[in-house]
Amino acid sequence: MRDAAALTTNASLKSFLTKRADAFFSNDYYASDVAWMDLDSPIEPTIGPYEVYMDELFNYKAAFEAFITIRNDEETKKLASFSRQLQDIENNLPINPKYRNPKLGASAPIRVVDEVLVGGEARAGVQTAAFNLPNDERVTREKGSKRVMLRNVQEAKFQKVLAPIAGIALDAVQRGKISFEPFFTHILAHELMHGLGPHTVTVDGKQTTVRQQMKELGSALEEAKADISGLFALQYLIDKGVVAKSTEEPMYVMYLAGAFRSVRFGINEAHGKGMALQFNYLFDAGAFEYDAASATFKVNIAKMKEASQRLTGDIMTIQAEGSYEQAKALLEKYVVIRPEMKTVLDKLTDIPTDIAPSFPLVDQLK
Ligand SMILES: [Zn+2]
Repeated sequence: MRDAAALTTNASLKSFLTKRADAFFSNDYYASDVAWMDLDSPIEPTIGPYEVYMDELFNYKAAFEAFITIRNDEETKKLASFSRQLQDIENNLPINPKYRNPKLGASAPIRVVDEVLVGGEARAGVQTAAFNLPNDERVTREKGSKRVMLRNVQEAKFQKVLAPIAGIALDAVQRGKISFEPFFTHILAHELMHGLGPHTVTVDGKQTTVRQQMKELGSALEEAKADISGLFALQYLIDKGVVAKSTEEPMYVMYLAGAFRSVRFGINEAHGKGMALQFNYLFDAGAFEYDAASATFKVNIAKMKEASQRLTGDIMTIQAEGSYEQAKALLEKYVVIRPEMKTVLDKLTDIPTDIAPSFPLVDQLK
């Protein structure tokens, strides 16, 4: 990394690479996390200990990973308008106003990039389609957080996995509504919403974090929150006229197809668990309807709007109150595969669960 820092003429890239290299020796990542937030470079590297999904004991210990990506300036520019809506969304979250954050971290940049290499935890298992980092609450409180959308990865997932799933799992009319853009937009909303809602909370008069309170349940609940509140946020922006009304139905239909994609990762993993919770909650609310004759599901848009808002409020309130017990009860009730879903999942066995990228650029360098 120091060699790379010496080679680049981009000041912010040089600063990040140098400070991150120092951090690997000191184990203090603060300064380099701040430098990563300030990065303004055509090459966008992300490297370090980040996600805690692999720590199934307490969700405290982070694993090392790296993403080397190339920034897509045109797509990045298109999404800048979303960043400006975040405080307004936070101010209208469906929770007790005292749990809202009146002042979000100053900076919420969104980068759209194409991945050219991943390593470490990112290379294993389900391929990351987007991320929202850093996770260190001290940095996010002071600097905000950055959302990175891996567009080429998302396109591949859409074509190879999502579109084939929709063709089998969805009602014949609704499957015609699927396209890449609403999938991309919901992933973006998911990442943005990780930054909103309760993070630093007060429990029994003591300041703590949702992450500390929720222990091993934290990741699944936070993933469910990001998914469902992503729908809430987009619906809010549609109602406000910021996002086109024509995206409403495709958004919910893509979300339903996406539910099957996520659950197929297994319900012992954070994203699959989080999606099983949402799916069954929404099914009970009548927002998803099952047709036994064709073994397909469809979305009831009116019920979906109401239920997604209610679930957003339920999850965020549990987080705000730091209630491990309520989180446990919610997950125990809903994280199951019910017969209707099982029937549809059994029809999807020929579709791959995920993509497995190859990195020709690296092979060329060998
Ligand atoms: Zn997430």
